[in-house]
Amino acid sequence: MPRNDGRKNDQLRPISFTPNIAPHSTGSVLVAAGNTRVICSAMIEESIPNWMKFQKVPGGWLTAEYSMLPYSTLERKQRDSAKGRIDGRSVEIQRLIGRSLRAVVDLDLLGPRTLCIDCDVLQADGGTRTASITGACVAASLAVEKLIEKKLLTKSPIKQLVAAVSVGVVNGEPMLDLNYLEDKDASVDMNLVMTANGQFVEVQGSGEEQTFSESELAAMMTLGKKGIGELIAAQRAAISSASAETPEPVGLVF
Ligand code: UDP
Repeated sequence: MPRNDGRKNDQLRPISFTPNIAPHSTGSVLVAAGNTRVICSAMIEESIPNWMKFQKVPGGWLTAEYSMLPYSTLERKQRDSAKGRIDGRSVEIQRLIGRSLRAVVDLDLLGPRTLCIDCDVLQADGGTRTASITGACVAASLAVEKLIEKKLLTKSPIKQLVAAVSVGVVNGEPMLDLNYLEDKDASVDMNLVMTANGQFVEVQGSGEEQTFSESELAAMMTLGKKGIGELIAAQRAAISSASAETPEPVGLVF
């Protein structure tokens, strides 16, 4: 059965990165994966968290925040500040983004600083956490380039790129990069976070009130690895063509 947007089961949504979308940020990008759009920013704070100071942990830190803008969903989503608390889903997602980026950043090389990642969802159509990770890595790479230019860093602390993609089983078929309509009907929902050299950072997978087989897991892994390879290629293209003067989108359709 064809997918609701005409893609093949192993096809990513069109991915694009518009660099330098937030001029005051050190590194920023608008990442679009189909209709999912996230603004990702990376900025340095010249301090480290108190727990690091107390425990005399050397090096720096990387922290991430995630939020869905009120108009990112079909029904207006109340801001966290209006509710007086961050919802559990956002907390889980921002921790995932932080862990994913820290896995590829040499915190010692960063020095006694914090790299602050902010991911704000402009439009949600499934896969906002995976788009956030993929975009945050580009934003962090652009920020690091600026810091090297300004001689605040001598060497990039980013050891390799990291990207994330969703996979799942929909109507009995393993599929790559689910959009919202697919996600809501999926019997298995999985997010893969992987590095450019093919290592895993995190695998989040669950049967939605049902079980799944080892062969379905293997099929989803195969799809996910293909998707990650393509996303890393798109990230590389975006990073190498980004320049402050020309915030043109860099896009690829697979
Ligand atoms: N979603 C929404 N409102 C919410 C949470 C989720 O509209 O408060 C939609 C949105 O399209 C999101 C999708 O449901 O992308 C899937 O949500 P999930 O929690 O699985 O996270 P995501 O796939 O975005 O990482």
